[in-house]
Amino acid sequence: MATELNTENGESGAETSGKPLNFVEEIIHDHLKSGRFGERVHTRFPPEPNGYLHIGHAKSIALNFSLAEKYGGLCNLRFDDTNPSKEEVEYVEAIKDDICWLGFDWEDREYFASDYFEQLYEWAVKLINDGLAYVCDLSSEEGREYRGTPTEPGKNSPYRDRSIGENLDLFERMKAGEFPDGSRTLKAKIDMSHPNFHMRDPVIYRILHSHHHRTGDDWCIYPMYDFTHGQSDSIEKITQSICTLEFENHRPLYDWFCDKLEIHHPQQIEFARLNLTYTVMSKRKFLTLVDEGYVSGWDDPRMPTISGLRRRGYTPESIRNFCEYIGVAKHNSVVDVTILENQVREHLNAIAPRVMAVLNPIKVVIENYPDGKVEELEAVNNPEDASAGNRIVPFTKEIYIDKNDFMEVPVKKYFRLAPGKEVRLRYGYILKCESVVKNDADEIVELRCTIDLETLGKQPTDRKVRGVIHWVSAEQAIDAEIRLYDRLFKVEHPDKVEEGQDFRSNINPDSLEVIQHAKVEPSLHGVTAGERFQFERVGYFSVDPDTTNDKPVFNRIASLRDSWAKIARKSR
Ligand code: ATP
Ligand code: MG
Repeated sequence: MATELNTENGESGAETSGKPLNFVEEIIHDHLKSGRFGERVHTRFPPEPNGYLHIGHAKSIALNFSLAEKYGGLCNLRFDDTNPSKEEVEYVEAIKDDICWLGFDWEDREYFASDYFEQLYEWAVKLINDGLAYVCDLSSEEGREYRGTPTEPGKNSPYRDRSIGENLDLFERMKAGEFPDGSRTLKAKIDMSHPNFHMRDPVIYRILHSHHHRTGDDWCIYPMYDFTHGQSDSIEKITQSICTLEFENHRPLYDWFCDKLEIHHPQQIEFARLNLTYTVMSKRKFLTLVDEGYVSGWDDPRMPTISGLRRRGYTPESIRNFCEYIGVAKHNSVVDVTILENQVREHLNAIAPRVMAVLNPIKVVIENYPDGKVEELEAVNNPEDASAGNRIVPFTKEIYIDKNDFMEVPVKKYFRLAPGKEVRLRYGYILKCESVVKNDADEIVELRCTIDLETLGKQPTDRKVRGVIHWVSAEQAIDAEIRLYDRLFKVEHPDKVEEGQDFRSNINPDSLEVIQHAKVEPSLHGVTAGERFQFERVGYFSVDPDTTNDKPVFNRIASLRDSWAKIARKSR
């Protein structure tokens, strides 16, 4: 299992509250010690509003907000909205909802990189005036050729030595909309033979006659990510700018801009992005899954998006605990998805009320029980939490049990119900199967049973009844729809595929099974979306927003135990 625990820190790291510091905290401690930013710790979470957040983002959110909290600092929310064609207001709202739901608060510090367009433009002009930027007329294709390769240096653009005056004039006219998209760019004048590609005269502004979700048609030139991100950090007086490893090569450029513009200079720190087994983790791929109908939407309960996990029934605590547990590392790895699933099991075990639900009902008629009698049996709501109290479950002559709890010809060591055999009904009597009723197709339609009226709620010592099964009253149960979700991908590494295929070929065709007529105990009448339960012996379930007054809909959050581990063991 490739789990990334805080291995980076070694044993030497200073400790607070008994836990070794992770490498980001070590850097912060150094900063606090040297006084680089005084006593301040100010982080930010900078999503691009071009899709919904996923569990990988949760890791970044948890890291940035928790560090701020730990060091008595602040964490901003900043939308990195420099890409007008791909961004939408819908995503901005969804991102905010998700961060709130996770339990983090940016207070009034909600910013947009687009709010800094004017300042960024002025800084671009400053670079031109300082001889550090020029307008380049090479097409993007020519630009690529001039850039060279990792082994060969690039060559200078023929436009590199334009005069400052000419550059100022052309840049102004770019802004005024005189030139078509792609015809010119503004580039930083750095070094075309720099070993780091990003330092070979990177583009800092491009022409894009495109409507922006916030600035409308004010601009037809847009700053590139690299010319926006660090400067936005700087404007907000960020101290540690934490990002994922793919930006490590951008750091020299981040530093170059801060230095040349002589502005507040945050420290960029890179950490390994979260990858999970049996999961893809990219907005582009999620868009494919949604657009091509593999899932019902961004919030499909099988999606690793925050909205998907929420709809599935995950608790924010379980996601935060997961982020805390996996820690931060400097090297990429893949985290076992079981860790996430176990976190939600652990949390729900502590908090979820227990109820009885029969997913594949078969009717049981108790021959020695009076017609019409309703007995109120007392059931424990949560054995892990005494304060959760008890509830009443009605017992009647006809009940449902699960088909899987009966075998006509029992295998060895089968402790559930079989003809002539006994089981205990959870919170109830000992039940004995007397006979089996079949239809013309020879299918079992009903079990005829008796109960031992002396055995309510107690386990007599002279009886060997090992099985305990769940049940619901046939007369009083509620019809429910149950959506049994499973992993969306059938292989550990869905992105590993044969030539000519992509992650779609690894989609698990059995990731959703819908049961239309499950029977659940009457206490579940009137449940509302988001409530979570443990269906005894079955798993953890949440109430889906599709629930109506007539029929609740439940999503399986997780089975009680990791069923995939068993499969993996078998296939070994
Ligand atoms: P994706 O690659 O999934 O489309 P992204 O990196 O383009 O995501 P952004 O909105 O740009 O998404 O990311 C916002 C922040 O979240 C960035 O700081 C980014 O580094 C971080 N982030 C994104 N994906 C992950 C991940 N898998 N693990 C940890 N942090 C992540
Ligand atoms: Mg991005």
